[in-house]
Amino acid sequence: MTPQQALLLIDLQNDFCPGGALAVHQGDEVIAIANPYAAEFYQRGQPVIATLDWHPADHGSFASNAGQTAGTQGELDGLAQVWWPDHCIQHSTGAELHPALAQRWISDRIYKGQDVKVDSYSAFFDNGHRNQTALDQLLKNRGITALTVMGLATDYCVKYSVLDALALGYAVTVISAGCRGVNLKNGDSEQALADMAAKGAVIL
Ligand SMILES: [Zn+2]
Repeated sequence: MTPQQALLLIDLQNDFCPGGALAVHQGDEVIAIANPYAAEFYQRGQPVIATLDWHPADHGSFASNAGQTAGTQGELDGLAQVWWPDHCIQHSTGAELHPALAQRWISDRIYKGQDVKVDSYSAFFDNGHRNQTALDQLLKNRGITALTVMGLATDYCVKYSVLDALALGYAVTVISAGCRGVNLKNGDSEQALADMAAKGAVIL
């Protein structure tokens, strides 16, 4: 039997695109790749799920709130944490999906990162695996067993979403052309793709 598929579009939000608060180099280039995939999944009756990083303004991952320098590392409530510029603040323009993304194909939105005490790279769990989003239940309710994943950023939210999806038993295909990375260190994105492949993801 063919597995039931869903498309997972990770954090295609203004703040992760050029001009945004946490711009990923060429992040907007993936929108043109996301749209035809989204149309194709929609036309086959398969879910097209968009995740959104969705932080309160006092979120603990923000360098401004921690009194730290953006891009450096520290600790947040017992977990290693990269300090980020303020980004994807709930209801801000920066948190909106990119205007070029064809939202008519999107069936569901999953919000993450609302808890001020813990960051949430994965679409499934916060970074401490303390709480989960509605995503796993949504997929199970619809009999989805395979995910096609793309989005921003390769080395954070795409990577951790894919690793969690694999651990939860989903078959995962990553569209690498549809991903761009932060690359705090050179090669982080390549390493992230290698880590996903090592755990069983198919990298296109
Ligand atoms: Zn964030």
